[in-house]
Amino acid sequence: MTLTDTQTTPVPADLPADLLDLDARDPLAHKRAEFLLPAGVVYLDGNSLGPLHRSVPERIERVLRGEWGEGLIRSWTANAEAALDWMALPDRVAAKIARLIGARPHEVAVGDSTSVNLFKALAAALALVPDRRVILTDADNFPTDLYVAQGLNALLGGRYELRRVPNTEIAAHLSLEIAVTLLTEVDYRTGRRLDLAGLSAQAREHGALTVWDLAHSAGAFEVDLNGAGADFAVGCGYKYLNGGPGAPAFLFVAERHHAGAPVALSGWMGHADPFEMARDFVPAPGARRFVPGTPQVLSLSALDAALDAFEGVEMAELRAKSLSLTDTFIGLMEPLCAAHGLMLVTPRAHAQRGSQVSYRAPDAQAVMRRLVERGVIGDFRTPDILRFGFTPLYHSHADVWRAVQGIRAVLEGQTP
Ligand SMILES: *Cc1c(COP(=O)(O)O)cnc(C)c1O
Repeated sequence: MTLTDTQTTPVPADLPADLLDLDARDPLAHKRAEFLLPAGVVYLDGNSLGPLHRSVPERIERVLRGEWGEGLIRSWTANAEAALDWMALPDRVAAKIARLIGARPHEVAVGDSTSVNLFKALAAALALVPDRRVILTDADNFPTDLYVAQGLNALLGGRYELRRVPNTEIAAHLSLEIAVTLLTEVDYRTGRRLDLAGLSAQAREHGALTVWDLAHSAGAFEVDLNGAGADFAVGCGYKYLNGGPGAPAFLFVAERHHAGAPVALSGWMGHADPFEMARDFVPAPGARRFVPGTPQVLSLSALDAALDAFEGVEMAELRAKSLSLTDTFIGLMEPLCAAHGLMLVTPRAHAQRGSQVSYRAPDAQAVMRRLVERGVIGDFRTPDILRFGFTPLYHSHADVWRAVQGIRAVLEGQTP
């Protein structure tokens, strides 16, 4: 299969004029050409694995042959004046992510997986509220968030209660017992978005700290962690940030906690001067102290290149387009839902919606398998969810139209 410039995909002949018009006025339309996507595919799974940005293969080739092959060990410090050395790579990537999440560059650490960063964030947050014993979380939180909390609690002697409540009832469960809230802003199944600013403020009023999982937020719409007064946050490099499979994740630690938050995974690369090879851990300034080991240079380089897709992009513009795409999709799907027993589980209210749309559907797994065979790639989530992610950087309203035609064909039982 060839990877093509998707701009060459012909506009469907039956595309309604209003959608054609929305695409013609799309200020982000030019971004689509920056991504390499397989021909004939409508890719609605960038919320699980973002596609390949055009700059990545060339960058990886340069890192492999030039920086690794030729430069060898020298590349750790080569071009340090221009901050183009491998040692500076995590900070360079952190600065790019910081802009997308309303953080200052020194509040963001890049490296390890989201799961590992959840551990670091939760360990630090719990230590900052030593007199409380309850972690408040969403009963349907992403499994890794729940498992990390369980594992950390076991390590800490099981002294915490992991209180799991429906995500519509978080505010009602805030109390003076809560040490930390561990919440994912956008539910991976339903696409319901929590009120990050409101809940952060309410948690603060109750003396609790917040740990936010931004897996389905960062790069999907504007996030303002400092505006919200959030304490800790983590997020994925390979979803809306398009860093590639297994890309390094990020950790946000608000500046006010830098001095007091303990570093559970204190490694030599989080030391203020790693090559001093000192006997005792002295943390590096800022959030960098939370990255314990050697930076993952190959995957960091891919993420660094991919993040250039956001250069010059206004996050408010991105959000407006995301809502237009999901509104259009929800509208076009309505007659199909009525005819085939699908139920929209994503809130219609814009404030409660991320950048995905999900339906409960009879026989959802088989439906998604047939959709993928037709080139409409979303995903199935247990028990009966069809999930479609929309990414304003490379989707058009014509893609939404194509996707709905594919879904219609599958639901009506047409063979591909
Ligand atoms: C995708 C996702 C993760 C992934 O964690 P990894 O450690 O990267 O595997 C974590 N949390 C949420 C909410 C996710 O959607």
